[in-house]
Amino acid sequence: MTAGGVLFGALLGVVTVRSAMVRSKQPSVVPATVPAFADPGAEQAGRLGQAVRFQTVSRDGMPPASAEFAKLHEFLRQSFPRVHSTLQRETVSELSLLYKWEGQDPQAKPILLLAHQDVVPVENGTEGRWQKPPFSGEIADGFVWGRGTLDDKCSVMAIFEAVEWLLSQGMTPRRTIYLAFGHDEESVSVGGALKIAELLKSRQVHLELVLDEGLVVTKGIMPGVSRPVALIGLSEKGVVNVDIEAVGAGGHSSMPPKQTPIGQLSRAITRLEAEPMPAELRSPTSDMFDYVAPEMTWPLKPLLTNRWLFDPVLTWQLDQGGSTRAMLRTTQAPTMLFGSPKSNVLPQSARVTVNFRIRPGDTTSSVTEHVRKVVADDKIRVTAQPESLIEPSPVSDLSAPAFATISQTIASLFPDVVVAPGLMIGASDGRHFVSVADSVYRFLPIVLASDDLARLHGTNERLRVSDYLRMIRFYAQLLKNFDQPR
Ligand SMILES: [Zn+2]
Repeated sequence: MTAGGVLFGALLGVVTVRSAMVRSKQPSVVPATVPAFADPGAEQAGRLGQAVRFQTVSRDGMPPASAEFAKLHEFLRQSFPRVHSTLQRETVSELSLLYKWEGQDPQAKPILLLAHQDVVPVENGTEGRWQKPPFSGEIADGFVWGRGTLDDKCSVMAIFEAVEWLLSQGMTPRRTIYLAFGHDEESVSVGGALKIAELLKSRQVHLELVLDEGLVVTKGIMPGVSRPVALIGLSEKGVVNVDIEAVGAGGHSSMPPKQTPIGQLSRAITRLEAEPMPAELRSPTSDMFDYVAPEMTWPLKPLLTNRWLFDPVLTWQLDQGGSTRAMLRTTQAPTMLFGSPKSNVLPQSARVTVNFRIRPGDTTSSVTEHVRKVVADDKIRVTAQPESLIEPSPVSDLSAPAFATISQTIASLFPDVVVAPGLMIGASDGRHFVSVADSVYRFLPIVLASDDLARLHGTNERLRVSDYLRMIRFYAQLLKNFDQPR
């Protein structure tokens, strides 16, 4: 046998042994103490359907639909009398809601459940493709239909249902529980959850946990794992829109210079695409693989349990697909292009806006610097739009007891699930709370298969009634679990 052969044999041995010995990071399954709510759950589903009918739609550049929010608030009052007679309720920025359920132990750190009341509009011209009208909240074929059933009225309503039920059972919490419902998550996100976080800060409230919407229980999405995978978001990506602008003398297009501002811009974009921000397998994406790998089947298991050896291959493989690439890199997407207003006029200025989604580890300024360096042309102006700046949020601690409690709750309600941390690619309200909470986690207790993903912000948004009942049970169980002394 050659020296290479010996080395290969030894390496194969190490890989196989390590793969066989790797320990599962899954929580032990403790049976839920909150009973299952009776199917078909007509009452609860009916209330979610009613909540969908209030058109609390966020539109860019438009004031909020105040009258619809007011109707929703009144509906909440009527539907959840125990919540409204026991918890302290206040409005923030007129339309956002903050509830406080006072705990008995002032030493115990409070926790906060977060959701948003607003929904995205239904795209013009797509109404006819809905199997049930988007704001009907109809219950049919075992589903509640309509805008907000997945994002995020399900969460608003399930939290209310859970607390109302816990109150009916006589619960008085040990630690204070806050419930917060923003009203502008889908638009500017500056008046609702952000103001609630500032208010808590001004009152010196410090939370152990904020749980927001975010990642979900995925089914059939993770290669090498046949079981459903519940992903708990530890961080959300940041955003910056960078404007790249080239200027020219203008004039008639019949006498153009050799290179126009549009030509200059094109070269800048080509350079950027050839040299994007680097890909790197780092936390929380690397943590996700550490949790999922022991549960995988061959051949992915040996690959992912031996990341010390296979990281370069894995990184390369993940970088090939759009959704997996987004977990590794700060992504860049040129989205808007402006030139001359007329076909026979040379542009005096041409501009492209590039939308960056920033992974933890990069920052809005490191991204802007990167663009300047790669474009490498002092005749081209590179500016970050000041109103677009969102830094990636800090990565919440995996070893915090709150993470274990959430994992445990998931394991007791979703049979055969694999629980793992992850990175949230989009942005939500949770990021506003990082300075008032030890940990911010992003998890929506619903199961989504890959063909469900298009329903989020898309057509035929719907939620299975049985999944909604489990969602209520999840929040009730979670609040009970958090109330246990540790
Ligand atoms: Zn949402």
